[in-house]
Amino acid sequence: DTFQSLKLSRPLLKALSTLGYSSPTPIQNASIPMALLGKDIVAGAVTGSGKTAAYMIPIIERLLYKPSKVASTKVIVLTPTRELAIQVADVGKKIGQYVAGLTFGLAVGGLNLRQQEQELKKRPDVVIATPGRFIDHIRNSPSFNVDNVEVLVFDEADRMLEEGFQQEITEILSLLPRKKQTMLFSATMNSKIKSLIQLSLNKPVRIML
Ligand code: AMP
Repeated sequence: DTFQSLKLSRPLLKALSTLGYSSPTPIQNASIPMALLGKDIVAGAVTGSGKTAAYMIPIIERLLYKPSKVASTKVIVLTPTRELAIQVADVGKKIGQYVAGLTFGLAVGGLNLRQQEQELKKRPDVVIATPGRFIDHIRNSPSFNVDNVEVLVFDEADRMLEEGFQQEITEILSLLPRKKQTMLFSATMNSKIKSLIQLSLNKPVRIML
C-alpha cells in the first residue's frame, strides 16, 4: 500500500514525502482508514511501529477539513512522560508542516507552568499532555478550555497506568465532552488496560498485529 491509496490530502502527502515515509507501516495501514471514519480504536503497538503517525495523520487530516474561525483545542493526546509528549509534538509538527495555521501546545510536568499557561490560552488545535499537568492546568488556568475536544488519544496507555495515573485519567475523562473519538495505543493488554478500554471507548475497532 501507499499513502496515496489511503486518500490523504496533498499537504499531508507532501509532508510524508519530505519526511521520507514512502509507505505506511502495518499499524498505519490498519488504523488510518478506521480513524478517518471516526471510529474508536484500540491498537497493540510498540515504539518503533510508527504508532505516533498512525494517529497523527488521521487527526491532522480531520483538522484540515474542519477549519474553525475561532481557535479551539480539538485534540488531546495523553502520554506517560514529558519526553514522549515532546516527541509526539515534534512528529505532529513535522506531519502538519504544510497545513497553514495548525497549532500544537504542551501541558507537561517539568516545563515552565506560566509559559505553558500562556500557550494554552491561545487554544492550540492539538494539546499533548501528561495526566498530572493536564489536571493542574484545568484546575488553575480558567483559560484552558476543553469544551470543544473531539479526539482523545492515549499513547502508551500501559505505561500511563504503571506510572499510577489511573485517578487523573478518570478525572480527565469526566472533564472532556462525552461525544468524541478515542484512540488507545498500548504495548500490552492487561486487566487494568481492559478496564480503561471499557471506561473510555465506544465499540472500538481492535487492531492487534
Ligand atoms: P514511533 O513508533 O511512532 O515512535 O515511530 C518510530 C520511527 O519510525 C520514527 O522515527 C518515525 O519517524 C518513523 N516512521 C513512522 N512512520 C514511518 C513510515 N511510514 N515510514 C518510515 N518511517 C516511519
